[in-house]
Amino acid sequence: MQKGNISVQTENIFPIIKKFLYSDQEIFLRELISNAVDATSKLRTLANRGEVEGELGDTHIDIIINAEESTLTIRDRGIGMTSEEVQKYLNQVAFSSAQEFLEKYKEGSIIGHFGLGFYSAFMVADHVDVITKSYKDAAPVKWSCNGDPEYTLEDAERDFRGTDIVLHVEEESKEYLEEAKIKGLLDKYCKFLPIEIRFKDEAINNTNPAWKKLPTELTDEDYLAFYEELHPFSEKPLFWIHLNIDFPFNLTGILYFPKLTNQLEVQKNKIQLYSNQVYVTDDVKEIVPEFLMLLHGVIDSPDIPLNVSRSYLQSDRNVKKITSYITRKVADKLHDLFKADRAAFEAKWDDIGTFVKYGMITEEKFYDRTKKFALLKNTEKAYFTIEEYQEKIKENQTDKNNKTVILYSNNPIDHDSFIQSAKGYGYDVVEFDVVLDNHFMQHVEQKFADLTFKRVDADTVNKLIDTDKVQESVLSDDIQDEVKAVFATQIGNDKITIEMGALSPDDLPVVITKPEFMRRMQEMSRLQNMGLGEMPESYNVVVNTNHHLINDKLTGLETAEEKGELVDYLYNLARLNQNMLKGSELTSFIKKSVGFLK
Ligand code: ADP
Repeated sequence: MQKGNISVQTENIFPIIKKFLYSDQEIFLRELISNAVDATSKLRTLANRGEVEGELGDTHIDIIINAEESTLTIRDRGIGMTSEEVQKYLNQVAFSSAQEFLEKYKEGSIIGHFGLGFYSAFMVADHVDVITKSYKDAAPVKWSCNGDPEYTLEDAERDFRGTDIVLHVEEESKEYLEEAKIKGLLDKYCKFLPIEIRFKDEAINNTNPAWKKLPTELTDEDYLAFYEELHPFSEKPLFWIHLNIDFPFNLTGILYFPKLTNQLEVQKNKIQLYSNQVYVTDDVKEIVPEFLMLLHGVIDSPDIPLNVSRSYLQSDRNVKKITSYITRKVADKLHDLFKADRAAFEAKWDDIGTFVKYGMITEEKFYDRTKKFALLKNTEKAYFTIEEYQEKIKENQTDKNNKTVILYSNNPIDHDSFIQSAKGYGYDVVEFDVVLDNHFMQHVEQKFADLTFKRVDADTVNKLIDTDKVQESVLSDDIQDEVKAVFATQIGNDKITIEMGALSPDDLPVVITKPEFMRRMQEMSRLQNMGLGEMPESYNVVVNTNHHLINDKLTGLETAEEKGELVDYLYNLARLNQNMLKGSELTSFIKKSVGFLK
C-alpha cells in the first residue's frame, strides 16, 4: 500500500468544500455521474478508432445504494484508470480543478455550481473509495481518502473495466441513502444524459432527447411528446422552435411557446439549461433575455462558460451572441408563422400577444423584427398590423396636428356606450386588455411619431379626434353659464371640472370623461406604487348643451330644487355609465328610478 498527501499546499480544501457549498450539496451526484458519462464516452470514442481491444460489452452506469454499509456507489464501465492515472487525475488534475472552482466560487455565484468535479464527493461523504480498472492492460487499484489531504493507493480486486466511486455517506447526509431522494436527483440532473443510467436495475434516462436530433427527423407528435416529457401535465404548447447551430458557437435546444394569457409572472424558470445533456440549471436569466423566459423548453450549449460568476456571464461575448441568436430565431419563427398562415397566426395572437409585446418593449432588436407583424385587434375581432391599421383609420381619425389617433378600450363591456358613440362617428376602436398594453402603447407612440393612442372615454365623442371644427351650441353663452352653475352647486366638488359640450342631440345629456394624460399618469403611479399614495382619480363632467333635457327641460324648470333634482339624476346616470356609482349611492339611485315608474 502506498500513502501520500494529495496537496502540498497548506490550505486544506476539504472543510471548505463541505461548508461552502452546503446549500447546493446535491450537485455532487451530477458531478460524479457526469465523470462516469465522460469516461464511458471516451471509451466509445477510442473503440471507434479501434484503440480498444475486444468487445465493449455493456456500458451502462449503475447507481447503487447500500443502506447497511451506508454507501452510495456510482459504477461505470468506462475507460477506468491505471495506478499512474489515478495519481495524476485524482490527486493532481481533480484537486487543482476543485481549487480553481472554489476560487471562482468565492468571486461570485457560479451558474448551477457546475465544475467542482470529483471532490464534490466530500460534500456528503467522510470517506471515498475509488476502485478502478483501466481498459488498458493494467492491474485494478483502489484509492481511498477520508476527507483530508492524505490518501492511500493499493491493489484491488475487480474483474471488469471501469470505475466505482464509493461514497461512505456521513451521518449528517444520510438522506442520500434514501431511494426516493436519489431517484428525485436522478430525474432532475440525469434525465437526458447520453449514456444509460440505471437505478435499481431500471434505466432512468432518455439518452437521445429530441433536441439532439435533427428537425427533419422529428414530427409534430415527437415535439409534443418531448414537451410532455419535460413538463408533464401541462397544456399543449402553441408552437416551438428548434435551435441548432454549430458556428460561431454550439447550441441546440427546443423552445416552446406555452399558452400564456395574462399571467405574466407565474411561468418563469421553465427553460432548462444543459451542457452536453447534463442538466445545469433552470435559472437562465443571464443567458436568455427576460421576455424569452416566458418560453418553456431546453437549451444545451457547451459554449456557455459555467465556471464563471453570473455577473461575468452577462458580459461574455459568446453569451451575448447566444442571446441575440435566440432572440432572432424567435422573431424569425413568429415572422414565418405570420407569412405562412395569417389566419392561424391571428388565432394564436391572443395567446402570444403578451409575449411579443413584452419583447418589443424590452428588446430593441426584437422590436425591429416584430413591428411589421405585431397585431392590433379591434372590437369587431379583426386583426391588423400597426401599419395596416394606420392606413385603415387615417382618413377619419387624424387630428389637427396630423396625428392619427388610435382609440382603444381596456374594457369593452364597461365602455360599451363610449364605443357605440365612437362607432356612430365612424371611428374604430381597438381592444387593449393586458396591463402591459399601457407600456406597449407608449412604446409605439415613441416609435411612430404620427400615431397616438387615446382611450375611448378620454373625451366626449365629438372631441375624441381633435379637429378644428367648431361645435355649435344651441344655448347662448349666458345660459350655458347658468347651467354650469347649477351643475357646480349640485356636484359640490371643485376638483371636478365641469364643461359645456356641444354634442349631438342624440348623444347622452351628461358624459363623464377621463382625460388621457391624467389617467395614464394615475395608472403609472398605481403600477409603480410609488409610495406617494394614489393620485386622486380625475375626471371631467361634460354637459351636452344640445340635448333637449338640458336646453329645454332643465332651462324650463322653475325652482332651484327641481333643477337640482334633474341635474343630480343626470349626473348619476353619467356615473353609472362609467361604473362609478356604487354602494348606498347606487341603491338610492335605483330606488329613485323605480319611483319614476309608479
Ligand atoms: P474534470 O472532470 O473537470 O476533469 P474532475 O475533478 O471531475 O475534473 O475529474 C478529474 C479527472 O479524473 C477527470 O478528468 C478524469 O480523467 C478522472 N476521472 C474522474 N472520474 C473518473 C471516472 N469515473 N472514470 C475515469 N476517470 C475519471
